[in-house]
Amino acid sequence: MRPLLLALPFALLPLCAAQAHDEHEHGSLGAHEHGTAQLNVALDGQTLEIELDSPAMNIVGFEHAATTAEQKAQAAAAQQRLDKPETLFALPAAAKCIAAQSEVNSPVFADAAPSKAHEGHEHADVDGHYQFQCDNPSALASIDFAPFFKAFPGTHKIAVQAITGSGQKGLEATPANSVLKF
Ligand SMILES: [Zn+2]
Repeated sequence: MRPLLLALPFALLPLCAAQAHDEHEHGSLGAHEHGTAQLNVALDGQTLEIELDSPAMNIVGFEHAATTAEQKAQAAAAQQRLDKPETLFALPAAAKCIAAQSEVNSPVFADAAPSKAHEGHEHADVDGHYQFQCDNPSALASIDFAPFFKAFPGTHKIAVQAITGSGQKGLEATPANSVLKF
């Protein structure tokens, strides 16, 4: 669960891309770059955990609480899609992984009053926390993020950090280079 991932020594990804291409002043959301999502993977025994941290822009196309009917429909559709991790992350069938837990949060999903962020500088993230149980984790040789890119075309890059029994791996996944190999 969350404490496990947080306890792992993820190295911070180089943020040069964010520095070079950032369009906004982000304040505390330093790594929030539209088009780019952060994703942490940890395999511990039979448990595969995935933590997604994405600008809401990549997922629903806006970063404020959904107000119009169209925005609410977009947010609901995205939430449903995000809630099916087995359709977003392609795992080798031989690993026999089953999505066991899925938790998705974002201010854009809430039927809430607009956030208190500064006007014109409003940013919101989508956070996903997933757990798969894999009967045969030794066959877990890769994760393909192609279905995620297809589901959310506003995502152009996923900065992936992975920790498995065989060590730490990183990948700047793109639609053309979407497979993380362990
Ligand atoms: Zn933003």
